[in-house]
Amino acid sequence: MKIAFLCPYCAQEISWTVNAENQAPACPHCRRTIRLTHAPSLIKTAQIDRCSICQGDRFYVQKDFNRILGVVIIGLGLAISYFLFGFNMAALILGLTVCVVIDVVLHRILPEVTVCYRCHSIYRHFVRNPAHKPFDLHIAEEYEPK
Ligand SMILES: [Zn+2]
Ligand SMILES: [Zn+2]
Repeated sequence: MKIAFLCPYCAQEISWTVNAENQAPACPHCRRTIRLTHAPSLIKTAQIDRCSICQGDRFYVQKDFNRILGVVIIGLGLAISYFLFGFNMAALILGLTVCVVIDVVLHRILPEVTVCYRCHSIYRHFVRNPAHKPFDLHIAEEYEPK
């Protein structure tokens, strides 16, 4: 179980593995200790219902997919079809189709992550809480700074 969150002191990203001893992580960037408050269910069942960072209770789930990687795959696919077939529409469409298929397959096999609406901390390798749904803009807007 891993949580990726921003250090409250220096705003650098920290990736922290939750352990049973409930150790407090020290920021590798500014070396300050960060107090995390885990909900009891998180340690017991690995299911998230309250954020260990901000104590928020609203989350969304998404695929752990790097958008940059997606763009790289599409770019590579286009480059390869260009070199193999030269520039023509059929090759372009074929190349794009292959890329879309790769994208879809990757999305299927990639694990899901849970993200806190309030502080955007990312929870990896947890048990999915059935109450958590994909990203909802209306909920996110409630947490937008006014
Ligand atoms: Zn820090
Ligand atoms: Zn949070």
